[in-house]
This record gives sequence, structure tokens and C-alpha cells, in this order.
Amino acid sequence: MSKIIDGKAVAAAVLEECRKEVEELKSRGVTPGLAVVLVGSDPASKVYVGSKARTCAELGIHSEKIEMPAETTQEELLAVVARLNADPAIHGILVQSPPPPHIDEAAVVRAIDPAKDVDGFHPENVAKLALEDQTGFVPCTPAGCMRLLKEAGVETKGANAVVIGRSMIVGKPMALLLMAKGSDATVTVAHSRSKDLPGICRQADIVVAAVGRPEMVKADWVKDGAVVIDVGINRVEDASKKSGYRLTGDVDYEEVAPKCAAITPVPGGVGPMTIAMLMKNTLISARRTL
Ligand code: NDP
Repeated sequence: MSKIIDGKAVAAAVLEECRKEVEELKSRGVTPGLAVVLVGSDPASKVYVGSKARTCAELGIHSEKIEMPAETTQEELLAVVARLNADPAIHGILVQSPPPPHIDEAAVVRAIDPAKDVDGFHPENVAKLALEDQTGFVPCTPAGCMRLLKEAGVETKGANAVVIGRSMIVGKPMALLLMAKGSDATVTVAHSRSKDLPGICRQADIVVAAVGRPEMVKADWVKDGAVVIDVGINRVEDASKKSGYRLTGDVDYEEVAPKCAAITPVPGGVGPMTIAMLMKNTLISARRTL
């Protein structure tokens, strides 16, 4: 039987570390602050923004939730970012993705002060990750995946890791973290144009699935004893649920789990880690002001 990597428990431990650190920072005169900007009223984004603010409140982190209407112009949004860049009470700024289509998201990310870019999406922080320069910010989801591997005692050194997905939010930074000195994995990055994806995955000691396709990774894609990190969060219709849907990952958990040495479930795996690592990044930013 495989070992289930309990993301909820690891995230709770990370948040407990954060709580202690907030106390320590406050005792030194710094109250960490996070600003979350939401443009429009996408229901999933509202839920994410709400839970980020709630987590801040639980930890004693000052948070500012800025909700702007869907018609907000690029200039109005950039003005808010500029105000937050200049606000010494704010150590982390994030603009919830996706903004409405008329907003140039890349330009907004570039406008955030890299020293407050706790999402780690600013080009300066992307470069620092590639350079293995520790003074940047690591994107929260892949940072959470690395923490889960560590807590599960997974040896990455010399391991063959296959990352499925090459997004700037998950796939690419995950590959950089796995191959960085200290992690020392041999990394293959697969995507929608990769040939023989099942064959590529079968070589892997560690599979990280960040695709957005429900239950794509099947049992015959995974070798016996592999470790599987499922980043995917997909809504699939399920008439037996009151909501009419259930959440599932990119991995066919029922099939794959019995073959693995360790696997993350969905929900309760990578998901809870993302917010926890966002809190960590906010505290890193606050500490740097000391
Ligand atoms: P993107 O859509 O930005 O990227 C998906 C990647 O998967 C792309 O590189 C794409 O390839 C690749 N892909 C798509 N279809 C296939 C296929 N059939 N075979 C191989 N590769 C394929 O998604 P994200 O990276 O933002 O997110 C991925 C998943 O992770 C989603 O389910 C998302 O909801 C979830 N997620 C979860 C988070 C969490 O907190 N747990 C946080 C962020 C995301 P190509 O580049 O060629 O198009």
C-alpha cells in the first residue's frame, strides 16, 4: 500500500511555524502585511481571496483585501499596485489571477515591487529562481510540493523526476526547484506536444502532474514504487454530490495509489500547501525589512 502524503497536516505545521514567526516579528516591531487585489467577481477567485484573508487573520498577519469592479481599467489597477508598493505596512502584494480579459496581467505583475512579489511571478524573481539566488521569492505551489517531498522523506538526489506541465506558475518553477543544487534531481518536463507521455512517466521515480486534465495519469504510466505529486484541481460533474460536482486531480488516484511509494490526494494534498507557502513568503518579505 502506498503512503498518503497528508497536505493538510503539513500545511497546518507550516502555519504553526508562521504563527510563531509572526509573534517574533511583532515583538521586533514589524507586523507582517499582505494585500490581495481582486478585479471582478469570479466565484473561484473570491473563494481563494477570502481564504487568504482568513488565514492572515488567524495568524495575526495584517491583510488588506481590495475588491475592484470588473470594469476597472489597467491604469486604475496599476495605481492601486503603485499605492501598495509605497505602503510600508504591506510586505506582500498579489493580484488574483485571472483578471478580466482587458487587463494585461503580465504588465500588472511587472508593476509589483519585486521585493513584495510574494507570488514569485515577477521576472526578477523568476530569474532569481533560475540563478538559485535565495533573495527572491519561490512561487507558492511548487514551493509547497517541495516541502511535501521533504516531509515525506523522499530522496530527490539523483532521482528521475518527470514534471507534466510547463506553466510559469507550476511546471517550470517546479522543474527548476527539483534540478537545483541540493535537490539534485534529473528532470524531464513534459507538455501537450510531448511524444509518448506514458513512456516518459514510466521512467520517473517522482511524477509531478500539473496539467489540468482530470485523472489523466493512469496506473500503467507509473512505475512500481514511484512518488506521485498531483497538483491538478479539476471540477468534474458528480450527480451524487449536493453541489453537483467533485474535485479531482490530474492523477487517477484509485488506480495509481496502490502502485506508489507515496502519493498526494486531491483534495488534501498540494492544495492546502499553496496558501501556507504564501504566508511563509509574506513573512520572509517582512523579515527582510528588519
Ligand atoms: P496551465 O493550463 O497553465 O498549464 C497546463 C500545462 O499542462 C501546460 O504546460 C500544457 O502544455 C500541459 N498539458 C495540457 N494538456 C496536456 C496533455 N494532454 N498532455 C501533456 N501535457 C498537457 O495550468 P497550471 O499550471 O496553472 O495548472 C495546472 C493544474 O494545477 C490545474 O489543474 C490547476 O487547477 C492546478 N493548480 C493547482 C494549484 C494548487 O494550489 N494545488 C495551484 C495552481 C494550479 P502546453 O504548454 O503545451 O499547453
